Amino acid sequence: MDENNLLKEFNSELDQAFQKAWHSEKGGDDNWNNFLNNYGVTPLTKENKDFLLNSDMKIARGAFPIELRRVFEKIIEKYRVLESSSPMLASAIGKFDMEAKVKEYYQKIKPFSGLSDIFKNAATGTQKYSQGLQKEKQKTMTCKNCGAPRLEEMQYDNCLFCGSKLFETKE
Ligand SMILES: [Zn+2]
Repeated sequence: MDENNLLKEFNSELDQAFQKAWHSEKGGDDNWNNFLNNYGVTPLTKENKDFLLNSDMKIARGAFPIELRRVFEKIIEKYRVLESSSPMLASAIGKFDMEAKVKEYYQKIKPFSGLSDIFKNAATGTQKYSQGLQKEKQKTMTCKNCGAPRLEEMQYDNCLFCGSKLFETKE
């Protein structure tokens, strides 16, 4: 295949995944699950999805970022095999910034935070404040990419929300 076409296909496959995730129902739907299945990616368990839907990492629409990341990984894996035949493709793969791409997606599925959020926060402020005091006693590990807290009671290495390996300790 022509070098140019290979690069085009790589980019359009990444874009297709992004669009599919974005147009999926909040937390994923059958269509998205089929798409994941085609790539051999296992969707999050219902337990994990419910947990995320009730967490502070609010989403307004779309599949969870971690699932899109897994698809991106499969696409990269697939094209990596071909990169020796195309320096252009090799360079595009090398430049692909997974963290930035997943974060870009997260920004798109986040609920619009306008005035309504401020009013909502004011109403729950007192409750939040007292919870906050308790939380502040211990250091929290948060995901460097999306800011999700890492929960010690759930055993996992990557951020459950966006799949990043990068955590930082916030005091
Ligand atoms: Zn994250």
